[in-house]
Amino acid sequence: MDYGTFFFKNIATVIVFTVSMCVLSWYNRRVPGMRWFAAALITGLAKLVLQGLEGKLPPVYTDLPANDLYLISFMMQWMGLRCFVVRKPLRKPWPWILAGVVVVAYPVMFLARIPYSANVLNVPFLFLCGATAWMMLRYGRDAFLTISRVTGAILIGQMAVAAYRAVLTNEIYPRPWKTVYAQADPRWDYSLAAGAFLAACMVMCELWFLVTELRRELAAQARTDPLTGALNRRGMEEAAARETARSMRHGFPLCMIMMDIDRFKRLNDSRGHAAGDRALQALVQLVKSHLRGQDVLARTGGEEFAVLLPDTPAAGALLVAERVRRDVEQLEIPFESGPIRFTISAGVAPFNPARGFETMMRHADAAMYAAKKSGRNQALVYSAPQPAGEKRPANGVSPSAVSLG
Ligand code: GH3
Ligand code: MG
Ligand code: MG
Repeated sequence: MDYGTFFFKNIATVIVFTVSMCVLSWYNRRVPGMRWFAAALITGLAKLVLQGLEGKLPPVYTDLPANDLYLISFMMQWMGLRCFVVRKPLRKPWPWILAGVVVVAYPVMFLARIPYSANVLNVPFLFLCGATAWMMLRYGRDAFLTISRVTGAILIGQMAVAAYRAVLTNEIYPRPWKTVYAQADPRWDYSLAAGAFLAACMVMCELWFLVTELRRELAAQARTDPLTGALNRRGMEEAAARETARSMRHGFPLCMIMMDIDRFKRLNDSRGHAAGDRALQALVQLVKSHLRGQDVLARTGGEEFAVLLPDTPAAGALLVAERVRRDVEQLEIPFESGPIRFTISAGVAPFNPARGFETMMRHADAAMYAAKKSGRNQALVYSAPQPAGEKRPANGVSPSAVSLG
């Protein structure tokens, strides 16, 4: 293989990848991983340019910075991948401090002309590849499971190529300031081509990560109410399917609270639609502050909300509903034309596996309408109508329904 031709093709490809990644990261600025990928490619391109100048300029201006840049570029790639799979900011800066030490130690040894100094970079590089592959296999899940596994496999491949080149360097080219002579060695060139191939595969994976992220965002938008940030009816149906199945499998109790703002139309008419919207947002914030991580809140109608409470019996759900009702009663939402105040009515119903989710929802609704009927600003729990022979209430909620209002 002719090194010059290979190099020209490689740099042309990397320029296309870098420009595309920069454009994509600009259009997807809210996806932080993309910025790291673009930065990694820019750094990788700079490394390639310096590599291309090998033999034309002294190695201190070419090989030396090129090798350092390669490690930095992989650090940036690791950060980008981390954004997608770990999804938490880096709390401790020690990986960058260690990389900084290596990036300074290598030139010192290079300039002191110490043989085998490439190991100072090669060993941390191998470790970085291994650690990144481990991160992909350990943290890649849900929508990112397949892509994380593929990326992990590519990283293991990159690690193998880097290990081969490290062995080659130690055996035949122990003086990194003289590696330009290695360009005539097919083992050097083919391993370089293998590395370039895997790097191209990695760029494809990075694009796959972006597509997966955008699909995830779209799916989340499809089940979220844009005004309040609560789930919408579709989101609630998905959660209901999951939670009812879990409740039936393990026999855990499951409850639903339905809540509706009292006389909301009057609030809209007297204070304006913007005030109504503000009240809806404040209610969602308040309800969320009373819920646990596994509870599900959804806006099921204009000013109507449903809460699904896994592992909660009716008494516990009624307690939550009552706490929310009491806090809403005391809530004053600052607004330009004066504070907004309102109340809610709530109905609670337990899940009965024999009757299904729809019935629980209907029962919670019936209890909520019973709360409206008996004066609003209260929380009632549904209890089954009296047995035949006894007088049934018209709203389906028995007179024994508990009111904490
Ligand atoms: P009740 O106490 O019986 O529940 O009376 P209500 O006035 O709250 O109920 P009604 O169903 O008569 O009115 C609901 C109102 O909610 C009517 C509609 O204009 C309003 N609404 C629905 N969606 C939105 C929204 O997104 N923003 C605002 N501001 N108002 C909304
Ligand atoms: Mg209402
Ligand atoms: Mg309503």
